[in-house]
Amino acid sequence: MELCTYKINIRGTVQGVGFRPFVYALSQRYLVTGTVSNNSKGVEIILNTDTLTLKQFLIALEYEYPLLATVDSIQHCEVDYLHFDSFDIIQTQDSDQITANIPPDVSICQECENELFNPQNRRFGYPFITCTHCGVRYSIIYDLPYDREKTSMKFFVMCKLCEEEYNNPLDRRYHAQPIGCHDCGPKLQLLDNKAKEVKTLTNEIDTTVALLDEGKIIALKGVGGYHLVCDATNKSAINELRKRKRRPTKPFAVMVRDISMAKELAFISTKEEELLVSKERPIVIVQMKDKSSDEIAPGISKIGLFLPYTPLHLLLLDNLNYPLVATSANVTDEPICTNLASLEKLQNVYDYVLNHNRDIVNGCDDSVLMVVKEQQVMLRRARGYAPVCIELPFALKEKVLALGANQKSTIAIGFENQVILSPHIGDLDSISSLEYYEKNIDSLERIYKFSPEVIAYDMHPKYESTKIANKIMQKHTSIVAKVVQHHHAHILAVMAEKKMTSKVFGVAFDGTGYGDDGMLWGGEFLVCDCEDYERVASIEYFKLLGGAKAIKEPKRVALSLLFSLYDKAVFSLVNPTIKEFSTLELHTYYTAWEKGLNAPLSSSIGRVFDSVASLLGVCQVMSFEGESGMLLEELFDSSVTGAYTFSYENSKIDILPMFDALLGEKDISIAVSKFFHTLVEIIAVVYKPYNLPLVLSGGVFQNRVLLDLVLERFPKAIISNVIPPNDGGISLGQVMATMNMSRDK
Ligand code: ZN
Ligand code: ZN
Ligand code: FE
Repeated sequence: MELCTYKINIRGTVQGVGFRPFVYALSQRYLVTGTVSNNSKGVEIILNTDTLTLKQFLIALEYEYPLLATVDSIQHCEVDYLHFDSFDIIQTQDSDQITANIPPDVSICQECENELFNPQNRRFGYPFITCTHCGVRYSIIYDLPYDREKTSMKFFVMCKLCEEEYNNPLDRRYHAQPIGCHDCGPKLQLLDNKAKEVKTLTNEIDTTVALLDEGKIIALKGVGGYHLVCDATNKSAINELRKRKRRPTKPFAVMVRDISMAKELAFISTKEEELLVSKERPIVIVQMKDKSSDEIAPGISKIGLFLPYTPLHLLLLDNLNYPLVATSANVTDEPICTNLASLEKLQNVYDYVLNHNRDIVNGCDDSVLMVVKEQQVMLRRARGYAPVCIELPFALKEKVLALGANQKSTIAIGFENQVILSPHIGDLDSISSLEYYEKNIDSLERIYKFSPEVIAYDMHPKYESTKIANKIMQKHTSIVAKVVQHHHAHILAVMAEKKMTSKVFGVAFDGTGYGDDGMLWGGEFLVCDCEDYERVASIEYFKLLGGAKAIKEPKRVALSLLFSLYDKAVFSLVNPTIKEFSTLELHTYYTAWEKGLNAPLSSSIGRVFDSVASLLGVCQVMSFEGESGMLLEELFDSSVTGAYTFSYENSKIDILPMFDALLGEKDISIAVSKFFHTLVEIIAVVYKPYNLPLVLSGGVFQNRVLLDLVLERFPKAIISNVIPPNDGGISLGQVMATMNMSRDK
């Protein structure tokens, strides 16, 4: 058959995942000549072959590509004839706009795990064993294209054996950038909390195991940062960690040795098991079996479990008979610690550090997921999933930088039909988190050689992200601004993930977000498309006594609602909320409420949850975000039916009648259950006249019970699965809002 030359372009996550050696192996199988290389858009193959072999080659590409790759498209065309004597992997070429994806960090693969525990293997017990199919990527990358010289592995010189593997296209470690071994790669180091090296008896792992057995708290260097770990069955160790970290009640995540240990602790569905053992190895929130010990998650029957994802974790847990509490090492409100210098602030929290000398370039928390009605719900999108490229259903006219919100912030850059979404950055409440946030912007811009033409940001004038937007625009006056309403962005994030562009009916149940009337929205019903929204209904405003303080203190919101209901009669009421205030305070707050002093208006469903929790005596002051909702979940009784009344007139939903009825309820569980049903009923009543897809978003939909009930009632309702429903999705929604923006207009 006649030989022709073909060019094949593959786009997707195809770099740093063993794609070129895979193509090389195919060339040997089909006896073809040509080249394969990485370029700024993905992988390019030049092939001399006949049409029949080309067909087979393309099928093999499509169905056999490496585990870690994701393929968005494979395109081929015939080009002018070129002659080749062999098939070669040729060097990466640099070019302008990078559009290839940064590969995320994934867990150790089965083959490496087998070698890790095989005494005959030269990497037996090596805590950094890796290959092209597994291990760190994003967290060690300074720049694209993904080559060893552009990662923190550049400081390690390969030994002869490693180099041979690295250069052999038929080896599993061909161009595995983090390759190393006992002789040449990163090494462990055990330090005390003064950063002094500790002498070990046998090795660092054995000594660490002995320390954990004694109940010590260890800072353990992982992939995207340090964890604080201790024996999860040792109550006094956990209480000590809570005390030292000043974290009285917020649940801890727990790392288990394997899936069978997970099943001893919790009920795990097939879908949850799939996620736990997946190559991303997220934390999955599951139902605990035994609630007799309350240290890990006080008052809460759910537990966040995850499996070891690095060889180091495997070596540790293989030597332990118990699971480990493993929580991100960070100061409250600050980003995860990624080096010894930042970890120093926690030296009163940990006793020892199990450290190593491979630098973490890009910090990245653990991802957190749950499963509701067989659907994956992302709660924190980070390690394993981020950064990831989301394909839009249209091409952007301009290059967009979206700055997200102020809590659980993420940033996104958009160009052509792609959006690159950063991992979870965190709340912008401290100087170091702001620095970390700006570093993330710089990294994405540098790695993608990207400079924005449009900046999309939240409407809230006081968000740190808004201030940064203004700062950037002052420096670059040609950049166009796009202000996006918070809840519009929430709905748009789901639309982006689901590739929807026509009108939807969006329900945004949220903590807070700045409304276009300057009020704090959060119980919104929006009919919207990418460009615009109409607020067709919302929760009737109530007053947040004490402004920002009301967000942490459910009792303040509850008191305000009591004033709305009963006015001065509140003074003679007896209930759990009133008990929290002195007579003097009641009178002071009444005046503040009546005159609207430091009492901004809000329609937030998040605050409605808080007030229910306060009125029923479940939670008066929260020690972590979302606590009231989690505690209410615990009280839900699925056998209770029926909802409370509310009124819906002139686009306003008045929920005071619900509170009035709720206060008369004798059984807390019945009250809580009927409250959940009332929220579902509100959605049903408002949505009824609209013949549009129903889209749900906003932080309140992280509530498992509410989401489950709404999906039960509306099985076709659309939620996001890869983007969090909380503010972590806002930046993606903001990019979506710039669909038709063009500077020429
Ligand atoms: Zn591997
Ligand atoms: Zn080596
Ligand atoms: Fe929000």
